[in-house]
Amino acid sequence: MTIDGAAVAAPATFGVINPATGEVAEQAPDASREQLDTAMAAAQAAYPAWRRDESARRKALLAAADVLFARSEEIGRILTLEQGKPLADGTMEVVGAGVWLKYFAELDLPREVIQDDDNAVVEVVRRPMGVVAAITPWNFPLLLAVWKIAPALLAGNTMVLKPSPFTPLSSLKLGEVLRDVLPPGVLNVVTGGDELGAWMTAHNTPRKISFTGSVATGKRVAAAAAPDLKRVTLELGGNDPAILLDDADPAAVAPKLFGGAFQNNGQVCSAIKRVYVPEALYGDVVDALAEQAKAVKVGNGMEEGVQYGPINNRPQYERVSELVADALAGGARAAAGGRPIDGPGYFFEPTILADIADGARIVDEEQFGPALPIIKYTDLDEALARANGTHFGLSGSVWSADADRAAEVAAELECGTAWVNTHLALAPHQPFGGFKWSGVGVENGPWGLYGFTEMQVIHRSKH
Ligand code: NAD
Repeated sequence: MTIDGAAVAAPATFGVINPATGEVAEQAPDASREQLDTAMAAAQAAYPAWRRDESARRKALLAAADVLFARSEEIGRILTLEQGKPLADGTMEVVGAGVWLKYFAELDLPREVIQDDDNAVVEVVRRPMGVVAAITPWNFPLLLAVWKIAPALLAGNTMVLKPSPFTPLSSLKLGEVLRDVLPPGVLNVVTGGDELGAWMTAHNTPRKISFTGSVATGKRVAAAAAPDLKRVTLELGGNDPAILLDDADPAAVAPKLFGGAFQNNGQVCSAIKRVYVPEALYGDVVDALAEQAKAVKVGNGMEEGVQYGPINNRPQYERVSELVADALAGGARAAAGGRPIDGPGYFFEPTILADIADGARIVDEEQFGPALPIIKYTDLDEALARANGTHFGLSGSVWSADADRAAEVAAELECGTAWVNTHLALAPHQPFGGFKWSGVGVENGPWGLYGFTEMQVIHRSKH
């Protein structure tokens, strides 16, 4: 682990499984409660000096970006080993993290003068909060950590980061490669089980918790933050709808829909998780998506040419298997896939489910894996009502030959990002967050940066 700028071993370890083989690939440190206390104390001690030197912070973030660009393949390999994604995607994730660091290194931290007259000069400034507790999931372990690290550190906070126990190795490496770039204590990386996350949220040092993960855990985090009124940003699950309008061209949209649903093997919070298709286009869309699903190469992400790896972990593999089996038992048809792939590892066939409707578990719940239900509709208002008729509200998309018409429909979606003729188009300058149970607050852009600050008024009287 990285605590106060130094490498620290833990009294115990836990196994990290390579999802492509189902076997333990490496051991990771299982931090003790005392070690968490030490990490929090180090972050607290580093805070005053870090907060005062904005130019040093910007330089450090740029240097961190350069380290990630230079070592993207090495860290990408670690991501493939522990997460399962193909090596090219692992490497791209590290490069993406570098891009985010660069963006925030150059983002303005505004000081706004809101009054300057005979009575007073009144300024609004964005002040850091102190120590941030950051907790991340297993789908994009490195990128989602950097979505927190870059804005939190730029604002002048320090951090204790805890990755998912399924994917701790890339974050441990991140802590290691940034030891020479960041002053000791500014970024501490500790690993352990879910309990370590609970200790962090209950700890009395952090003033802010930045959490990405499931809705169920997010609610626990919010409850744990409440007694101390810690600030929280919660990036939680989604059940994104994609709605095709009646003028959409099935052959043209199918590859894009497939990409938006199956990227990272469907393990993306804002992936397409259900598709609503007008009756007249239904057969063609199902066939075109099934063709896509049958053509992709699934395998060990370390192998050349593999496009989709395994599901990351056994509980998730079992969940996807169960949701698909439930759909098939309920009368759905597998137009492609439908079963786990024999052999070691957590592989599942890319699956397109047809003849399925709202009410099926895989439509109503977040599957977070390589299986996509395609739902028929006759009335657009009804499709919109079904798309919105959920506790989730992360993102959604509308697809049409007429982008203006699609944009009007997209504006009716109750979610943080509404795309037109695309899905999963995310960028550092674009705020990302969820409505309803999909989250609280946003990440990215100036708005994400402000989430790591308190607003302070400096009022200088002239009398
Ligand atoms: P999870 O909620 O099981 O775990 C997330 C993190 O929380 C892990 O580090 C875990 O150890 C920790 N944790 C577990 N219990 C905790 C507790 N009581 N207190 C504090 N921390 C605790 O989620 P997951 O299975 O790792 O990730 C998948 C979920 O994340 C999906 O629902 C997905 O949609 C969501 N997700 C959301 C976004 C987003 O930006 N909105 C991005 C990626 C993933």
